[in-house]
Amino acid sequence: MQGGRPVLPVFILDDESAGAWAPGGASRWWLHHSLTALAGQLEKLGAKLILRRGSALELIPQLAKQVGATEVHTGGFAVPSARALDCKVAAALQDDGVAFHRHRTGMMFNPERIRTGSDGVYGVYSPFARACRAVGPPPAIAAPRHIACPTPPASDRLEDWQLLPRHPDWAGGLRETWTPGETGARARLDRFLSDGVADYAAHRNLPGIASTSMLSPHLAWGELSLPQTWFAAETRQEGTGKGLEVFQSELLWREFSIYQLWHHPDLPELPLRPNFAAMPWRDDPTGLAAWKRGQTGIPMVDAGMRQLWQTGWMHNRMRMVTASFLTKHLLLPWQVGEAWFWDTLVDADLSSNAGSWQWVAGSGADAAPYFRVFNPVLQGLKFDTDGNYVRRFVPELARLSNKHLHAPWDASGQELADAGIVLGKTYPHPIVDLAAGRDRALAAYRNLAP
Ligand code: FAD
Repeated sequence: MQGGRPVLPVFILDDESAGAWAPGGASRWWLHHSLTALAGQLEKLGAKLILRRGSALELIPQLAKQVGATEVHTGGFAVPSARALDCKVAAALQDDGVAFHRHRTGMMFNPERIRTGSDGVYGVYSPFARACRAVGPPPAIAAPRHIACPTPPASDRLEDWQLLPRHPDWAGGLRETWTPGETGARARLDRFLSDGVADYAAHRNLPGIASTSMLSPHLAWGELSLPQTWFAAETRQEGTGKGLEVFQSELLWREFSIYQLWHHPDLPELPLRPNFAAMPWRDDPTGLAAWKRGQTGIPMVDAGMRQLWQTGWMHNRMRMVTASFLTKHLLLPWQVGEAWFWDTLVDADLSSNAGSWQWVAGSGADAAPYFRVFNPVLQGLKFDTDGNYVRRFVPELARLSNKHLHAPWDASGQELADAGIVLGKTYPHPIVDLAAGRDRALAAYRNLAP
């Protein structure tokens, strides 16, 4: 707080206000560890983090009264339920004479200020990104060195919130992969800027190597801000060539998704292109279950879905491949894929998730054209040429040659036997014929009114 006045840091878990978009299982795991890290850091600065669970609309005015606060500050961005809640909290506080300030912590630009020449909302990424670059990101704000804290009221115990999975404990892969909290975030950023950004432009589409920053959960949880990340990358400009520019473009894709959600609060539920409401989506619980479990019989799809289940994260190329398979080859609604990602991603983010699902399905802003159906076999041959990625996550295929790894059904009986594979037993037959699935999707998309 400017002026060194006392600050009471508070985190409220208000699932009810978040409704259908309350944090999913993987996010809850992250939240537990992130709050632990935050509480430790605040303690070092002299403050105690107060945890409360329940209605923020009731709890915030209560706490404000209890400590005699004159101002309440919150961070946030485009999430519709949070925007609505903030309006109500502001009104309740105003009745008590307490000022309410909402800071744009999750996004770089004021979405009302980034406008087309005719004062409209951008629906295409490139001119949006140009407009953002012309304005320039806001400066990163330095963290305080000391926080004066009033006598803290009682706090919930984090353990009592039961955010961690217990029976069964499925979080082993998450623990191996991630260090939630700001220290882990900074370490990952440093590592990426030292080792990864130089090759980022050339390697970022290769899921078999650690080619991207893996900063998304840290950004989604506010452990790093977008301006901090943007400027940290810029200070290491030397030697990073095109990598820096492409990396910053990806940060602007994040901003673009947030901007879309801000201007289209229905984005997580309804297609941005209204004609997609008439899409004849299928209902196929068996196909959906096979997709979720990574048992579709299509190696690239299964590898992606298992990476998600094991680590709570999936490489961007694989998110596109698995989402395209679900919405096009299986012709299942993008909303069911969006909901599964929401529950299983540690970086689950309402704007990026909804915007990207709609982008892949063809109904979103600047979306992939409907006839772009990713062929998961060709994607594998192109982006996982040496098969490292599929071998890691689909080990039952590991002994197949590179030639047939991405399409085991084309391997001879002898080759399958030599690799210890019995299709339909040790690894499934494909649940859909790729050519027939593609034709079915194209026919459905073609019939949509423009
Ligand atoms: P890097 O390649 O290192 O990129 C740096 C940062 O730029 C990322 O951390 C991310 O914040 C941003 N970024 C990169 N690509 C995109 C993109 N396509 N859209 C928006 N921002 C991007 N990202 C989420 O953070 N949360 C989600 O819930 C989410 N769901 C997605 C669902 C689908 C179907 C698809 C296709 C993409 C989704 N993405 C989501 C976007 C993207 O896949 C991830 O941001 C990226 O894979 C994160 O890995 P990284 O941090 O290594 O990215």
